[in-house]
Amino acid sequence: MRLDKMLAHMGYGSRREIRGLVKAGEVLVNGLPAKDVGMQIQEENDQVLVYGEEVIYSEYVYYMMNKPPGVISATEDKHDETVIDLLDPLAQHFEVFPVGRLDKDTEGLLILTNDGKLSHQLLSPKKHVPKTYFAKVEGVVSQKDIDQFAKGVILDDGYETKPAKLTIVQAAEISEIELIIVEGKFHQVKRMFEAVGKKVVFLKRIQMGELSLDPELELGDYRELSKEEVEILR
Ligand code: URA
Repeated sequence: MRLDKMLAHMGYGSRREIRGLVKAGEVLVNGLPAKDVGMQIQEENDQVLVYGEEVIYSEYVYYMMNKPPGVISATEDKHDETVIDLLDPLAQHFEVFPVGRLDKDTEGLLILTNDGKLSHQLLSPKKHVPKTYFAKVEGVVSQKDIDQFAKGVILDDGYETKPAKLTIVQAAEISEIELIIVEGKFHQVKRMFEAVGKKVVFLKRIQMGELSLDPELELGDYRELSKEEVEILR
């Protein structure tokens, strides 16, 4: 790949700005100042430094965000702030998009990437990728609800949900539960509880596939996924 193409992809500016960096001697390839922005780079073998920092090329980027409530999980919205607005300019440069949707008032694990193939795999109804939610629910959740969710419940539009695993964390006036579902219908968790006469008052996604939300991430924060984390999503 051409040096300028590589650096433009990695967010170092326009081709013109990159020419400036090269002219200023700020770009080293294998220890020597680059002379030609069109020189060929083998991303796997050549070492490229800009301002003394190594550029690790990757075609795609992957982030985990702890989505805060009140923010839309879309790339743009006419009225509200989106999860993309929460990203810094470099992450925005990669034109990532959220993998699936969380409701405006739902918080928790959201993956953002520009890798359409991985996104498709995670969302494909055929793959049945499990998603785990923690919720607070008005009403005392009981064994009867566990059994019903395990069998499948009928949503308001007549759709019968696939078996889901409901675990009671605390049964009370406002119960705390965990729910694992393998599909992603619109407002699915809320509508499943509606189907058994209960109301979700707080909802947070805590796991997708084998990937758990990093407890270190504050609401609205995000970080890159490690290579290993990307692999466990595949
Ligand atoms: N189920 C819901 O009801 N809302 C979400 O945001 C995610 C799952």
